Amino acid sequence: MSEVSEQQVMRDGPPEPRVGHAPERSEALFARARAVTPGGVNSPVRAFRSVGGSPRFIERASGAYLTDADGNDLIDYIGSWGPMILGHNHPDVRAAITDALAGGTSFGAPGWREVDLAELIVRVTGVGKVRFVNSGTEATMSALRLARGFTGRDYIVKFRGNYHGHADGLLVEAGSGLITNADGLGASAPSSAGVPQAYAQLTLVSEYNDADALDELMRERGHEIAAIIFEPVIGNAGVIVPTPAFLAALHRAREGGTLLIADEVMTGFRLARNGATERLGLHPDLICWGKIIGGGLPVGAYGGRADVMDFVSPQGPVYQAGTLSGNPLAMAAGLATLRALDADPDVYTRLDAYTSRLADGLRAAADATGVPVTVQHIGSMLTVFFLDAATLPHGEVRSYADAANADTAAFARWFQALLARGVYWAPSQFESIFVSAAHGDAELERTLEAARAAFAEVKA
Ligand SMILES: *Cc1c(COP(=O)(O)O)cnc(C)c1O
Repeated sequence: MSEVSEQQVMRDGPPEPRVGHAPERSEALFARARAVTPGGVNSPVRAFRSVGGSPRFIERASGAYLTDADGNDLIDYIGSWGPMILGHNHPDVRAAITDALAGGTSFGAPGWREVDLAELIVRVTGVGKVRFVNSGTEATMSALRLARGFTGRDYIVKFRGNYHGHADGLLVEAGSGLITNADGLGASAPSSAGVPQAYAQLTLVSEYNDADALDELMRERGHEIAAIIFEPVIGNAGVIVPTPAFLAALHRAREGGTLLIADEVMTGFRLARNGATERLGLHPDLICWGKIIGGGLPVGAYGGRADVMDFVSPQGPVYQAGTLSGNPLAMAAGLATLRALDADPDVYTRLDAYTSRLADGLRAAADATGVPVTVQHIGSMLTVFFLDAATLPHGEVRSYADAANADTAAFARWFQALLARGVYWAPSQFESIFVSAAHGDAELERTLEAARAAFAEVKA
């Protein structure tokens, strides 16, 4: 296949998506998986617990589409939970991985791709130095150890409903899969069995978008607090955007020497080239990345002020290591992805435009059928909350407590109705969906047509 026609397929996906095959193979695979893996999945939200039914097992993906084990072509709004901003199986990313593969898969010694990717990240984000790890979880865990080592303080602050991966100290009032899979909302600290209470107590929890609460906490305990970690836009309780007053309080909190850690694992290179930091004008001391910077392979990273980063081993006393860190295939995929974004100055404008049109279309469809929803979006992130904004204190979802009012049963019906029509939405009310650069007019039209029918089913 020539380069041109391949790009065409990328953009358009299958000429006429096939849907409506009964998910028999997916169900059979799920039965086998459940016998050998807890819950049949390797990450909880994939199990469809909160929406019911059997998860689709995916055979392959291209552009904006996934193809499941039964041959259904699904318009994908998960994008592997964020990494696939260029769309699936992008020719540049595949070529870069293939090129790296020819030279061997892992060296346990440094290579040029790590230097290239670090230079690119330093140039685009303005951080002093960066260290690669293998997941977002490792990035936040390591950044917090670094903040503790640098400040000599033990406590950290996080916000209710924010998710920063599954490290012990961060599974406290966490969002996403924990909310979705909990028996009810309002998880209490710690939000997972196996996290010692004594360790969880070093994590102080404050309310997102509550500037006064944060100011007060910092007045009382600021001198003990190594770092504040936050999602600069929440994706892991559904899309929630920070207020300017809250952002100001976060930056005030640095005055007593507490480090501000922006967890851009989801938002980095998604909301803008330099993520939420650029889009919202943030000044964090450290930033965590993951997802997009690996282009679909397992990569995380943390970076920031050079004086802080020089505390990391072997330069400094804070130990952090990884057998596969800087893996050549993963670096190649990340480099190709970030270079493709770099080479396309309009990409964020196009992503925003698609997502705005999607939001408008979804609101119109919900209104037309009389289903109350609150659609929140920024950049290429979007959530349809099944709740009436008029019932919320600020007329929009600003916190985990607001999100918790959503009608999850209505969401589950809507989700299943979309899936039956070939639209693969995130299988939880408390998640963002992700638009990719491969989503075009045809996908938007098909999605809105399916959404109209799905809202009608919810109403019926
Ligand atoms: C996904 C995510 C993480 C965890 O990353 P993993 O690669 O799944 O370990 C951390 N923080 C945020 C904000 C995320 O969205």
